[in-house]
Amino acid sequence: MSSLVAHLLNSVQEMAILYRMQNFQELADRILRGYQCTEEEALHLLKCSDGDTFDLVSAAARLRRHHFGNAVKVNYLVNLKSGLCPEDCTYCSQRLGSEADVLKYSWISSEEAVRQAGFGISSGATRVCMVASGRGPSERELQRVTGTVEALKAEYPHVEVCACLGKLKEGQAEQLCQSGVDAYNHNLNTAESHYGNICTTHSFQDRVDTVEQASAAGLSLCSGLIVGMGETDGQLVEAVMALRDLDADSIPVNFLMPFDGTPLAGHWTLTPLQCLRILAMVRMVAPEKELRIAGGRELHLRSLQPMALHVANSLFLGDYLTSEGQGAREDLQMIRDGGFEVLGAETHGGAGDFEGVPAGGVAVAVAPRHRGVGTSAAPNA
Ligand code: SF4
Repeated sequence: MSSLVAHLLNSVQEMAILYRMQNFQELADRILRGYQCTEEEALHLLKCSDGDTFDLVSAAARLRRHHFGNAVKVNYLVNLKSGLCPEDCTYCSQRLGSEADVLKYSWISSEEAVRQAGFGISSGATRVCMVASGRGPSERELQRVTGTVEALKAEYPHVEVCACLGKLKEGQAEQLCQSGVDAYNHNLNTAESHYGNICTTHSFQDRVDTVEQASAAGLSLCSGLIVGMGETDGQLVEAVMALRDLDADSIPVNFLMPFDGTPLAGHWTLTPLQCLRILAMVRMVAPEKELRIAGGRELHLRSLQPMALHVANSLFLGDYLTSEGQGAREDLQMIRDGGFEVLGAETHGGAGDFEGVPAGGVAVAVAPRHRGVGTSAAPNA
């Protein structure tokens, strides 16, 4: 190949790269001016190559910065009742017939719920998510939850409470609202066209009905996804468009944790770059919504986890409902290392002000090497 041809080829390649980069940036520009990303565009974003993914992240990050600056909202989960659910959601470790080795317990007391919530609040959480397994609460169970919420609000009036109790009966959303609950979480999880493959004991429409009930009662809506459950890219876009139509205020994106003892055990399909593309697509479709990296972030984003905070603006601190997350200190360190701040830390105090989390310098003592070459101990390889 002559040097002229090689030079021309390089120029064409460079122009193609520049064009793709400009496309993402151009789309972000239009979205910032009020444009709504279409289904075709969303699909195109998901299909972007690994090599172009950081360009996509950079465009989505501009939307994140525009709407949320450098703030990260920290949420904390309290599982009020764990396991023994009569529903058959295939992804869930608490489902009917689950053999997953997870904690199973009935309702914890209000005092214990408030005590547990306090740990998350003292680490910077400004929202506590009170969750209970099951199809939906009985009247008695709802009274139990409202009592707990009142006790929590009495002790921590500045903290937002989100309830996640499954399908609601008529009037229950209003009762939650009156007790001080700020938000209701009920995930759509996946597309309507895929729903029958992940659950048979309730329908996609049941989920939409509950979400609409909560919204009509004045509760802020939290509804999101579980990705990596065998859905196609088209179904993923379908689900995100449905969330946009529902106007959910916060969108948690969970990455399937394929527990042993559940039907989706061993189902590992996501790559870290794909997870970033999914988050970027959600940000482009719903730019002004709180986008939360939720369960499974450590397992699927792995070493790219900090990059996700440049697209998402919210996370769960510490552990999940039935699985352990990375250490809360590591979560806070990741926030600080990325140049972010914990939302509300300056007004509410707590470890969200990074108390004990180093900005730079020495975080831990440097460990002198006593293995590998020059020793008889096994090398680090
Ligand atoms: S209803 Fe909730 S707790 Fe029950 S199996 Fe489904 S996801 Fe799990």
